[in-house]
Amino acid sequence: MNTYKTKAYSAASATSPLTHTTIPRRDPTPRDVQIEILYCGICHSDLHYARNEWSSLMQTVYPCVPGHEIVGRVTKVGPDVTKFKVGDLAAVGCLVDADLSCPHCRAGNEQFCSSGVWTYGGTDRHLGLPTYGGYSESIVVDERFTLRVPANLSLANTAPLLCAGITTYSPLRHWKVGPGQKVGVVGLGGLGHMGVKFARAFGAHVVVFTTSPSKKDDAIRLGAHEVVISRNADEMNKHAGSFDFILDAVAAAHDINAYLNLLKVDGNLTLVGAPEKPHAVSAFALLLGRRSLSGSPIGGIAETQEMLDFCGKNNITADVEVIPIQKVNEAYDRMARSDVKYRFSIDMASLKAE
Ligand code: NAP
Ligand code: ZN
Repeated sequence: MNTYKTKAYSAASATSPLTHTTIPRRDPTPRDVQIEILYCGICHSDLHYARNEWSSLMQTVYPCVPGHEIVGRVTKVGPDVTKFKVGDLAAVGCLVDADLSCPHCRAGNEQFCSSGVWTYGGTDRHLGLPTYGGYSESIVVDERFTLRVPANLSLANTAPLLCAGITTYSPLRHWKVGPGQKVGVVGLGGLGHMGVKFARAFGAHVVVFTTSPSKKDDAIRLGAHEVVISRNADEMNKHAGSFDFILDAVAAAHDINAYLNLLKVDGNLTLVGAPEKPHAVSAFALLLGRRSLSGSPIGGIAETQEMLDFCGKNNITADVEVIPIQKVNEAYDRMARSDVKYRFSIDMASLKAE
């Protein structure tokens, strides 16, 4: 199979900064869409992966090109493509392939497919080479893993919906968050701020838990009804036993028992945050209230499209700080310090200068 070269930013090891490189992409096959990438969001998973922080689960393959919050314009389509034509807007999230025949794929839950291929760190089925993510000029993706972008949304602000958006939308829908429910969102970062927007849009009473007092006003502006500074035990205790649902979007080690204790009887805490080290869970925090603890990975392709359409209809996007690719290492360091309001979105035109 033929390939072409495209510019990208990659990390050569867990400790090296990301730098300019070129990578191969496959020439579009009959069902493929080639996309010129216009914006790519920076997810904390990009940092975890580039720095090999998930080594207990998988080893990062280097060089790695992160980025799975991709929006752009279609530049080429294969002859069998029906959903897109050249010039259309298109988006790609965390998944670029799956077997499409297993029970999970048939149910629209490609995120559970055992043959699913991640946008970066997977293996391109056509080339047998590692997949490379969105910190690059262009990408080639099967149209079945390519999403349509609502025309009314700003592209820089839409990119983060492809991961931060679907990862919070999906569990809130799965657990049927809605009016009459008290819902907590832990960690006001990229995922957390989207969780707040969706939980509010679904009609819940929303409480943000943050370690950053400076984010208090923003939390309210983003849609929270209340804000709790989670390092303050008195403020936490006031909410004991009162939540129907809590979404934990924290990227680092923290005490989840403090949040389990805030759930009502039969309440649920869903982890979307994926810290490097395992959590310690108190059996009593769970069993005394018959509470449950669960997790959720991204969402399926159909649900991702549903989320994008919902955002188009309700004018919901991420709050972003647009940066050139040359600032990506600085952005990683700031993200590690929780200094993001609330997602970095890379203007990929900056890569042309390299
Ligand atoms: P992010 O923008 O860096 O936000 C994480 C937030 O966590 C921070 O802004 C901070 O919020 C809070 N936080 C950080 N360190 C903390 C600590 N030591 N104790 C308590 N709170 C802390 O990250 P993100 O991109 O939203 O990603 C969040 C996590 O979700 C990452 O682990 C990422 O890998 C994971 N993720 C999972 C999925 C999935 O499919 N499940 C998808 C995408 C990302 P405050 O300042 O408000 O405290
Ligand atoms: Zn992500």
